[in-house]
Amino acid sequence: MAVSARDEPIQLSKHAARRPRRIPLEQVPFHRPSIGEREIAAAVEVLRSGWLTTGSRALAFEEAFAERIGVRYALAVNSATSALHLALEAFGIQRISLVNGTYLQRAESTYEVTMPTLTFAACGAVAAHLGARPDLTDVGEDGLLGPEQLSRHIISGSHVPRVVMPVHYGGLSADIEGLRRAAPGLRMVEDAAHSIPVPLRADAAAYSFYATKAMTTGEGGMLVTDDDEVYRRAKMMRLHGISSDAWDRYAVGGSWRYSVEEAGYKYNLTDLSAAIGLVQLDRVDELAQSRANIAACYDSGLQGLVRLPPRNGPHSWHLYIIRVDPEIRDLVIQRLAQKGIGTSVHFIPLHLQPLYRRWGYHAGQFPVAEKLYRESISLPIWPDMSDEQVERVIEGVKEAL
Ligand SMILES: *Cc1c(COP(=O)(O)O)cnc(C)c1O
Repeated sequence: MAVSARDEPIQLSKHAARRPRRIPLEQVPFHRPSIGEREIAAAVEVLRSGWLTTGSRALAFEEAFAERIGVRYALAVNSATSALHLALEAFGIQRISLVNGTYLQRAESTYEVTMPTLTFAACGAVAAHLGARPDLTDVGEDGLLGPEQLSRHIISGSHVPRVVMPVHYGGLSADIEGLRRAAPGLRMVEDAAHSIPVPLRADAAAYSFYATKAMTTGEGGMLVTDDDEVYRRAKMMRLHGISSDAWDRYAVGGSWRYSVEEAGYKYNLTDLSAAIGLVQLDRVDELAQSRANIAACYDSGLQGLVRLPPRNGPHSWHLYIIRVDPEIRDLVIQRLAQKGIGTSVHFIPLHLQPLYRRWGYHAGQFPVAEKLYRESISLPIWPDMSDEQVERVIEGVKEAL
């Protein structure tokens, strides 16, 4: 049985505790993870087991995830951000490299990482951490970096080594085959943070198990690939650049020897998280079906009132993004909040952020992404929403408009 949204006390901030605010009886939070008794039991089992960090649960989670996707390798990590970072590093975007027998540490790599501006901060940050330039592009009307935007961008761009990082924005699948045709020979890592496990089409993909995502372990992520070398490198860099992980080292009969090969990261996933992930993975179709049902209710309830999300491809319905006149967008959000309906906006395009302005990007540069951003409202869409809650959101949007 899933934990109901109403069983739990509403958390009050320190300030609110002193001056209690009247909280509407029927709130619809923007998100609530679907954590049931099975996830709780799996976590408790790990707590009692004597092994908390990366071990048998993490291995089982990787195997189940790889099997689900139909891919050779899955690496459990502590976030999708880590997975993206490891993928870029394994593709060869590195600050430290061995040149003629000498280690050179460069402030900048020669690489650019091409990504849509309509994405989360993590995408640009991991490129920058490796000294690569986040190379932003505009998106299509569906919010995705499509083959058309990519080929136009690459032709006008400089001929630098490049990796492409498409984003399955909101859960709508990007056209990876089309992108590959538009950018032949370029390596590609899918930002699949908004997707449920689906077949891999690029060189690697990064999934997120953050609390709001299609399946969750609280925090967590998975890097998947079919490439032996990407897997070998990412696996080593995931845990301190050591050539074998803790499980191998401490297993009965295992060796205490280890070998530090590179300056690696600390990106492993705990067994506590992995145990929750195994249950969520088992439920992922059921969770996705609930979201799809809610999306269908929104589609029929809001038709003609707002612009509905595009359906031009497979969709995980991580987000349900409506579009309204930008003049009234903020007021609609405010009115929904007054009715106790949580919303969000995905995303403020990267090029409008102060960091990217310092890097030379400016407002007006990517008009489609800016328009989508100014029109967008993400409505609550989470698996355990009741029919009444879905109805309240539809009525709330109607009244707010
Ligand atoms: C959430 C998200 C990430 C990062 O996922 P984490 O697991 O929180 O690191 C990356 N890209 C996009 C598009 C996201 O929404």
